[in-house]
Amino acid sequence: MERIESLPAQTRPAGAAPTDPGSVLLPGHDVPLGRYTTVRRLLPQRQRRMVGAWCFVDHFGPDDVADRPGMEVPPHPHTGLQTVTWLLDGEIVHRDSLGNVQPIRPGQLNVMTSGHGIAHSERSPAAHPPVMHGVQLWVALPDPVRAGAADFAHHAELPRWRDGELDVTLLVGELVGEASPAVVHTPLLGAQLTARGPARVTLPLRPDFEYGLLALSGAAEVDGSALTPGGLLYLGVGRDRLEVAADADSRLMLLGGEPFDEPLVMWWNFVGRSHEEVAAARADWMAGRRFGTVADDAAPPLAAPEMPTTRLKGRDRRGGLHG
Ligand code: MN
Repeated sequence: MERIESLPAQTRPAGAAPTDPGSVLLPGHDVPLGRYTTVRRLLPQRQRRMVGAWCFVDHFGPDDVADRPGMEVPPHPHTGLQTVTWLLDGEIVHRDSLGNVQPIRPGQLNVMTSGHGIAHSERSPAAHPPVMHGVQLWVALPDPVRAGAADFAHHAELPRWRDGELDVTLLVGELVGEASPAVVHTPLLGAQLTARGPARVTLPLRPDFEYGLLALSGAAEVDGSALTPGGLLYLGVGRDRLEVAADADSRLMLLGGEPFDEPLVMWWNFVGRSHEEVAAARADWMAGRRFGTVADDAAPPLAAPEMPTTRLKGRDRRGGLHG
């Protein structure tokens, strides 16, 4: 295990291509989201922007929201990505500009595909459970899907099975012959691992995938690293299995995918390939074009921040600048 802070770029031999490390424990950082929620952002990070096409990982809670509104994110736009929402506790109602109004509860999966543009809001209902806890993840879309139509899918039922003391729920992709109904557009994996008792298991991995593992609750020891909520263990390509020792009642999330080699321009809620593309999305949102109107949500839409005064540059999955 290495901490990425102790790996300054200049220690690489001159001219050597950066290689994927065996594993790196990346600490997340806290980010306020909306008025009432603080999230742990685990991706992107400075030197590790993506795991497969997973380009954004926010872990929120567990928060006591018994006397608070819970999640309150007013209408806002997205381009070039899928949002994947997964709750451990609480309830959120998703409303979007395609007309969908869909509550999501623990154990269910929402996958919203923005394509060229969609707007949505995410709010806890007035009468909601007392605890809010979950993740929101973004998946970068490849061409031509990223320029295509928007879509929304709610999956109330997902493949689940038991592996020793571990319960596995498959959110995205394929694992041990099971397949998630969620539609994604690059080879990708997302699974929750729930330890009933102290669990020691060997998970099968694909050597052509890179992986990230985070603790949603509890603790685990993986590849020599102690994993607790707030950190992301990055695992480079070339592994065919992973030994996981999880404490009783801990919940982990395994993310994986084929390395996504295109540099991305990520700014606000947009994932694009150029400054101009992102600036056009912002201008369309502020002018009320392209994204439509969110169903059943009369709140004022979120205003986009001002564009930076310098040009936005693309970053590859290791944080290298492009353009
Ligand atoms: Mn959103």
